[in-house]
Amino acid sequence: MFKKILVANRGEIALRIQRACRELGIKAVMVYSEADRDAKYVKLADEAVCIGPAPSPLSYLNMPAIISAAEVTDAEAIHPGYGFLSENADFAERVEKSGFTFIGPTPENIRTMGDKVSAKQAMIKAGVPCVPGSDGELPDDPALIKRIAKAIGYPVIIKASGGGGGRGMRVVHTEAALINAVQMTKAEAGAAFGNPAVYMEKYLQNPRHVEIQVLADTFKNAVYLGERDCSMQRRHQKVIEEAPAPGIPRRLIEKIGERCAAACKKIGYRGAGTFEFLYENGEFYFIEMNTRVQVEHPITELITGIDIVRTQIMIAAGEKLPFTQRQVEFKGHAIECRVNAEDPYKFIPSPGRITTWHAPGGPGVRVDTHVYNNYFVPPNYDSMIGKIIAYGDTREQAIARMRTALLETVVEGINTNIPLHQDLMVDSKFMEGGTNIHYLEEWLTHRTPSKR
Ligand code: ADP
Repeated sequence: MFKKILVANRGEIALRIQRACRELGIKAVMVYSEADRDAKYVKLADEAVCIGPAPSPLSYLNMPAIISAAEVTDAEAIHPGYGFLSENADFAERVEKSGFTFIGPTPENIRTMGDKVSAKQAMIKAGVPCVPGSDGELPDDPALIKRIAKAIGYPVIIKASGGGGGRGMRVVHTEAALINAVQMTKAEAGAAFGNPAVYMEKYLQNPRHVEIQVLADTFKNAVYLGERDCSMQRRHQKVIEEAPAPGIPRRLIEKIGERCAAACKKIGYRGAGTFEFLYENGEFYFIEMNTRVQVEHPITELITGIDIVRTQIMIAAGEKLPFTQRQVEFKGHAIECRVNAEDPYKFIPSPGRITTWHAPGGPGVRVDTHVYNNYFVPPNYDSMIGKIIAYGDTREQAIARMRTALLETVVEGINTNIPLHQDLMVDSKFMEGGTNIHYLEEWLTHRTPSKR
């Protein structure tokens, strides 16, 4: 096992990884930007290294600074968390070339899965069902593009091959709008992701977003840890996640889960990963794979009792998966609400000083956050400041506990989206379960927020 790991991230996930290291008796080196100097996990760190000023290109995306920090502190491995450099194949390669272990898959796997066109091709080959679409990247010839769209059938969605974070997508309903949409998506993709390649998929009208968590070791063992329903989205960004997905027959989950585990073995995948699917009319359609730990990993931890971050570290240290598929048991229901520093209905970011922070507690409540009383939320990064997670024997109990947890939470000094979560936890359609990916956006256009 490693003696020392460098954590190349910030915020709640940096703290989550630091906790896993402590539990395993591993020293954690925390890196931080000038804006995160006062983070508690920095103050509590075994060692901490400032890697640059607040803007992420100069700090959390600064590969030489991070690798130098690992060198000067004699760390053996680097955990990239999520976001930032976590899915950057060049970074993984540089980490390994510099003699450190990258806590994640091989650079080759990251590269294949990071490009959505090559990821889809690899999945088709591995027997994972995909959304019907163009056979790879779209050609330049407008006549050919029109022919492809006609064969798929409108509406279609144009997606950037290198896209991520819910950006680089455009839905097209008619042939008249097609070529312009392709050109605009290409231009945007070139500017945002440095890769103008785009592809086309059938636009599914009312799907749910259901994803499968996997863990694979370097001995060709791979397991799936069930699914997460992440359909509650705004602008393609997840807001609430839950596990299991309400109303989906277990045999369908088992079937798709086994396919995912088999695909991991086939491509030589190692570490934690997530296969993202759209689910419609009883069918799963692969959309992309995330080759890292996800924000919503705690809900899977709660229903399986498996510590995903700890297992990532064990796998990277060359250990075998400590359980087989048969030993993975699913129990109860878990829901996660992402707490964002933003106006709950106008969605304007709300960084600044948190004058009062009071976290909820009690049975079945887990809070993953790095914030504390008097913490200053810097304006430079993502607005998510933590996650409230509720677990219950049943979905109803998890929802009831979430309501209490949200009620107990006090955040003063900045705005958060907690009132939005409170409204959703008493929404009749959410309580029924099984809403699709458009539900939250539609709900937001129709309702006026309740007064609290
Ligand atoms: P990103 O990498 O930016 O997160 P994804 O490919 O995972 O992009 O898609 C994000 C979201 O966009 C999905 O959860 C879904 O809401 C929507 N989406 C993507 N592809 C399709 C499709 N073919 N049909 C309908 N919605 C889609």
